[in-house]
Amino acid sequence: MSLVVQKYGGTSVGDAGRISNVARRVVETRKAGNDVVVVVSAMGQTTDELIELATQVSSRPTGREMDMLLTAGERISMALLAMAIRDLGVEAASLTGSQAGILTDSTHGGARITAIKGDRVRQYLDDGLVVIVAGFQGVDPASRDVTTLGRGGSDATAVALAATLRADVCEIFTDVDGVYTADPRLVADAYKLDEVSYEDMLELAGAGAGVLMARSVEFARRFGIPVHVRSSFHDGPGTWIKEEVMEEAVVTGVAHDTTEAKVTVHGVPDQPGIAAKLFGALAADGVIVDMIVQNVSTAGHTDISFTVPDEHLEKAQSAAEAVLPELQANGIDVEANIAKVSLVGTGMRNHPGVAADMFAVLAANGINISMISTSAVRISCVIDAARCTEAVQALHAHYLEKEPV
Ligand code: ASP
Ligand code: MG
Repeated sequence: MSLVVQKYGGTSVGDAGRISNVARRVVETRKAGNDVVVVVSAMGQTTDELIELATQVSSRPTGREMDMLLTAGERISMALLAMAIRDLGVEAASLTGSQAGILTDSTHGGARITAIKGDRVRQYLDDGLVVIVAGFQGVDPASRDVTTLGRGGSDATAVALAATLRADVCEIFTDVDGVYTADPRLVADAYKLDEVSYEDMLELAGAGAGVLMARSVEFARRFGIPVHVRSSFHDGPGTWIKEEVMEEAVVTGVAHDTTEAKVTVHGVPDQPGIAAKLFGALAADGVIVDMIVQNVSTAGHTDISFTVPDEHLEKAQSAAEAVLPELQANGIDVEANIAKVSLVGTGMRNHPGVAADMFAVLAANGINISMISTSAVRISCVIDAARCTEAVQALHAHYLEKEPV
């Protein structure tokens, strides 16, 4: 007998019919002789709707109340799924994150899981129940307030639970067939990958591939949990995410992200301590910074550009503006319409020249690059958002087009 953790995303539990469908799948897995723990997201667009509702009643809702509100979304789907499963003759019980013993730090809206006390989940499993756990939430043991793990956080709940319970597999059921070489909505020729290494998946998720939350991949890698990303609408195999893959491609996929904005601070003195001051101020306000580029110094002055999530742009701008006099900067400039396109592949390590080649492809299409960042297995370029689709298509055609057979 195996222990299976299954996670169903918002679309998969989007309405009553789909919840019944999920219930059938869970019951099938249970009847095949497995212990089953199910993690659910909020139904459909519930989380977005709740956020929108909050903005209608308050211009500055506190993190605590936002988390109280948003955790309600997952509570609805977990209870409905438990009812639907019981109707099919299988015992099931739902638990909130707090009830399941998912402990976090105190960062409302982006809490980190610090420990999972899985005893209640284990007890229910021992009693023969299917356990449904609300995704995306936990509790801060110090304040006893509920917290949320950040958008897409149900993936992290599922993988962390799988690690704690030493599950045999963590299945992430979603509205796509698996992990693709590029977003199939942009690239008609994109294809599903049978397997992806943890390392590539971590980079793809961080580069904007929305199929899995990056933090969940970190967990999976740390605890060696194989993750199977698959469709909730059919039984076909999806993509396996694991340590070793059969074939290590130079480029595994092209990812893109249009959810960041770029900030440039102009004309700061090229001196020790300037970057520390600027990014210290941003960090103090909880701004997440992704790419950073410091331009060449002319006459002892330089420009510093960085990217932040769109929703942090306002915070970033005011934090940077507050330290402008201290930085002796000339001014600040923001650009919201940017896109980050990235090539990811563990095989890049052994293939020099991929970056040069990528820049050549963008150049051949007349696409200007405004920022570049690299890791050992990823190259990212910031470009004009209006050219994003073209860039992704050109890069996919160059690196990932399959030979006609
Ligand atoms: N419902 C939450 C969100 O939309 C968490 C999740 O779906 O993973 O971000
Ligand atoms: Mg998701």
